[in-house]
Amino acid sequence: MSTRESVAGPETLDAPASRAGYEMVVGLEVHVQLLTCTKAFCLCSPEFGSPPNTNVCPVCLGLPGALPVLNEHVVDLALRAALALDCEIHPISIFARKNYFYPDLPKGYQISQYDRPIATGGHLTIENADGSSTDVGITRVHIEEDAGKSIHDRYPGASAIDLNRAGVPLIEIVTEPDIRSAAAAGAYLRSLKQLLEFLEVSDVNMEEGSLRVDANISARPTGTTVLGTKTEVKNMNSFSAVEHALEAEFARQIVVLQAGQRVVQQTMLWDAGSGVVRPARSKEESHDYRYFPDPDLPPLVIELARIEQVRGELPELPAARRTRYRQTYALNAYDADVLTASKALGDYFEEVVMQHGDAKTVANWVMGEVLASLKVTKRDIEHFPIRAADLAELLNLVRDDVLSGTAAKRVFAIMAETGERAPQIAQREGLVQVRDDAPLRAWVEEVIAEHEAEATRFRRGERKLLGVLVGFVMKKSNGRADPRRVNQLLAERLGA
Ligand SMILES: [Zn+2]
Repeated sequence: MSTRESVAGPETLDAPASRAGYEMVVGLEVHVQLLTCTKAFCLCSPEFGSPPNTNVCPVCLGLPGALPVLNEHVVDLALRAALALDCEIHPISIFARKNYFYPDLPKGYQISQYDRPIATGGHLTIENADGSSTDVGITRVHIEEDAGKSIHDRYPGASAIDLNRAGVPLIEIVTEPDIRSAAAAGAYLRSLKQLLEFLEVSDVNMEEGSLRVDANISARPTGTTVLGTKTEVKNMNSFSAVEHALEAEFARQIVVLQAGQRVVQQTMLWDAGSGVVRPARSKEESHDYRYFPDPDLPPLVIELARIEQVRGELPELPAARRTRYRQTYALNAYDADVLTASKALGDYFEEVVMQHGDAKTVANWVMGEVLASLKVTKRDIEHFPIRAADLAELLNLVRDDVLSGTAAKRVFAIMAETGERAPQIAQREGLVQVRDDAPLRAWVEEVIAEHEAEATRFRRGERKLLGVLVGFVMKKSNGRADPRRVNQLLAERLGA
């Protein structure tokens, strides 16, 4: 035998691999849980976190005689995603049975779409680190139901099954093998997640499994166009895991190729704990699914009018919003990116701008104080105690010279903790700027008396000491004195 086959083992990962001369080729399959009130084919709740086996009925358990009925909301959400990805929607698609035996699949098959999916042939544009952009082709979007969950770590020596997820509606979004690096895979996943969040088709909560990623990866000599043998990496629950797993599997395949061996097509699992990819056990590997049309479900027929209605209801998408923020609010590209990171953050920003007026000031506060506070408290903007109207009110106080910038930051910190409004806090904490001449003059006199030497040197021509004296007055007033007026009063008093 001239070519030996190599089955992956973690030990091969330690061997040195030169990436030079090889190109990574990646296609991604993303499973997205749709944001519906009921499961795909029955009226059970798809809610995460319910007690085990409480959201189940004869249909999702696959009991004899139970018949599935398609939830039309699933179709609308799938259409929304497919249209936003510029896919072609097929007027007729077919639900198929994907047959395999696994304990968490009570029916012995999963309802999915196979050779006649609801949509094919779209694309998603991603931005690269160097500012250029790449179109990632979307092969297909199809509707399917989720399976249940096996739990192996709860009872010693036994496995438990929770079927709450059985029948939960998913769409699977499959890309062409257009991705050339781990970073590009990460960029694709982040833009897809943002798009789905803007579309409100999913809560895109990765910890709860609303968005799950499988990756097909192969290595080939740079400059060639033939695809190498691919492996499929499963079991990735974060975007950084996807990036790490792709790097590790790419390196492993190069070692195999450089040793003159062949990559074996197989399913790999990413072990985040040890940072290695390992072959799946045989029962976790791909099956011969024996697909056939589900006899219980009629073909899914979608009228043109329905497609056009969904298209007409598409919200503003992230790329369009970024462009609009740059044009309408004169923000730079970086600021526009940060402020449109989530739909809710962008909405918050715009509401504050509407009530305050100055977009640049609002952008600085939202990107500075607001995001810092959210990070520290691990909250998202929907649960931020300072409402948009209240932040606008605070910024108006700064604009009207009632609060100094420094005092405003102290007021903001208290607002973020208590949810109180700015004027009350400013009054109570004595932070309102003092602009009346009488108290300002009194402080000026005290400072001149206490710092005779500096005052004298100033009179003799050391002009830069004015700033030092203003600083003393500010300190004496606990930061409340209006610095501009203090400057004027000191200069007058010292005969400048
Ligand atoms: Zn059910």
